[in-house]
Amino acid sequence: MKTVQAPCSSCIRKTKHDVLFETSQQRGEETRDSYALISCGGCSTVSMGHQRLWVDDGSIDQAYYPSPVSRKMPSWTFWLTLGLMKNKEEGALGALLMEIFQAVDGGQYRLAAMGIRALLEQVMIFKIGDLPTFDKKLDEFQKQGYISLIQRDSMRATLDVGDAAMHRGFRPTEQELSIALDVVEGVLLRKLSPNYRLGLIWWLVADEQNKGDGRHVKYFEGNRSAHWRSLDMNLFDGL
Ligand SMILES: [Zn+2]
Repeated sequence: MKTVQAPCSSCIRKTKHDVLFETSQQRGEETRDSYALISCGGCSTVSMGHQRLWVDDGSIDQAYYPSPVSRKMPSWTFWLTLGLMKNKEEGALGALLMEIFQAVDGGQYRLAAMGIRALLEQVMIFKIGDLPTFDKKLDEFQKQGYISLIQRDSMRATLDVGDAAMHRGFRPTEQELSIALDVVEGVLLRKLSPNYRLGLIWWLVADEQNKGDGRHVKYFEGNRSAHWRSLDMNLFDGL
């Protein structure tokens, strides 16, 4: 079977893919389109590759569906969607988060950014009630202890990305979108479902002499600990 290197949206990297089916079409003089149904050799995820050849200059546009994003939808999104975590409002938030990931998968970054903005606003309204502006909502959200000052800044920046997409047609980069999704996932995980607790699992292993594991503590030197603590006081003190 013919194989090609292609990005896999489940493995989140380029892998060898089997080509299950391919076809091409020439509809006009200018372009020739080739389509390939491909299956990841690592995880069997099926996707479609589309190549457009511009006859004039021989240049090629290439796209994949789902698009090769650098992150997966978190598995707890399904719980949210089903409303299993707590209640109906959370179910609606989960459904919106799922649509955001579908937009990311489809390369629709502007729509994803707008969705993220809407989702963050809904979470805030859900928690603190409706207030006239984003800044007032953010202030209150922070005041009631749902986010730290630094989280407030990153939420503000994330809302700005959504705003720019909505009002100025701004298209966020994959990295900007990825940061926005980090913020959303963090806020959702920590602030919804008070009956669930976020945990960290440590695995205690027998002492070893040679590998030197545990020597990587640079991130903690000087006044770095104050920085980490400012990100999330409760989590830091808990640890
Ligand atoms: Zn894969």
